[in-house]
Amino acid sequence: MVDILVAGAGGAGYPGAFRLAKSYMSVIMADPKGELGGNCLYQGCVPSKTIREMANLYLRATKLLGINHLVNFEKIQDHKDQVQETRFKQHKEELSETFVEFITGEVEIMDNHHAIINEQGKQRQVEFKYLILGTGSEPLKPKMPGTEFCITSDDLYKYKTSIRKLPQDIVIIGGGYIALETASILNALGSKVHVLVRSDRVLRSVDTRLVNSLLSMLDKNIDIKFNSPVIEVKKISDNEYQVIYSEKSEKKTINTNLVMLATGRKPVYPKGTEKLGIAIGRKGIMVDETIQTNVKNVYAPGDINGISPFFHSAVRQSLVAAHNILAGSPIDYMDFQNVPISIFTIPTVSYIGIMPEEAKKRGIEIIEASYPLTKDSRAQMYDEAEGEIRLFFEKGSLRIIGGWIIGIDAPALINEIGTAVANGLTAREMANYADQHPMTNESISYAARTIF
Ligand code: ADP
Repeated sequence: MVDILVAGAGGAGYPGAFRLAKSYMSVIMADPKGELGGNCLYQGCVPSKTIREMANLYLRATKLLGINHLVNFEKIQDHKDQVQETRFKQHKEELSETFVEFITGEVEIMDNHHAIINEQGKQRQVEFKYLILGTGSEPLKPKMPGTEFCITSDDLYKYKTSIRKLPQDIVIIGGGYIALETASILNALGSKVHVLVRSDRVLRSVDTRLVNSLLSMLDKNIDIKFNSPVIEVKKISDNEYQVIYSEKSEKKTINTNLVMLATGRKPVYPKGTEKLGIAIGRKGIMVDETIQTNVKNVYAPGDINGISPFFHSAVRQSLVAAHNILAGSPIDYMDFQNVPISIFTIPTVSYIGIMPEEAKKRGIEIIEASYPLTKDSRAQMYDEAEGEIRLFFEKGSLRIIGGWIIGIDAPALINEIGTAVANGLTAREMANYADQHPMTNESISYAARTIF
């Protein structure tokens, strides 16, 4: 009998496992990948953002240094693999410093105190007091003919991917952040990119004003077609495909070299999950702010609950679960509202907290404070001065309840705004902070100062 069984070694799994082991709980953690870091490191955020950084570097080099060579995509993929290897190695070292027993294998649930770990042909029975289900999510494929000819972002970004030649032309199906990020990256590197969006808008859970600003700033060479549901994908030859879609009730086709599905993700439930009697909602396993499920000894942090499917959110949820298991009663709560969200397009967009559309729905009156990046020295240095920082304060208290950045450094800047939001700082407190010069952070206090 162990204290804790952790299924999955991603952001939802290993931080909690480490925390519990540090307090002398016996912990077994299993993941068929045999590596820590989950899908985020293996085929998600880390590899995609590595390539995104390279694409941005290329854009800067061509624009600012006059360098005009074609990119070597193979080299970019090699570098990406190397970053992944560095992190796999780092995680192995971190694991060796804990008392967590890590097994390369898949967890199969028997009941809420028993599981089998399927380990390369061998089966190991485990009895546990608590279960942390952190098995994440995977791409969701739509029901249409030809999906077997399409890749997903996993194929493009996975460790040692076989896609090492830049496609001349690519069709991306979907209108979420993975579709737009990949479109931006491949467009910057030199591919002709078409994005087929089923409905009339992209990024459906994001504030409309923010989405429209982003769309107006994306490179116009990216061919985004709205209201264009895909009917079928046909394979013509090894690197030639035909995408048939409908536009204004007319059938149209695009011939392309690669088709990528970016049509959402769905939770991964380990085999036997149904034996737990666990409540599953529209997004995934249902949890409350303590990350506990309706089965009291089972916690479900991360993508599997679908509330806030981001690595950094999973890490915090994993720790919340660990703290509550350690205490034996609820002592820690996840703040789902205040998790920074970034879309790593070119340019980037980040936001946190309550956005204007949401504030209106909730009847919260807000005062907006903004600062254009055209005035920011660092943005000028890079000649990337389009965009803005916008802060949302509650009328009266002038406490910050949200903010967004569109443009250079957004995913870095959102952390300063996020810290302010999570701690309910006032406009005065934000305005009085001496932000580092000449960095884009300065624009945060400049924005706050506009309302005094
Ligand atoms: P999160 O961010 O929620 O941690 P990820 O998708 O990054 O989600 O990671 C989930 C991990 O769970 C992946 O590494 C995957 O291999 C692993 N996993 C999936 N199914 C099982 C299973 N049945 N048993 C153990 N691990 C699993």
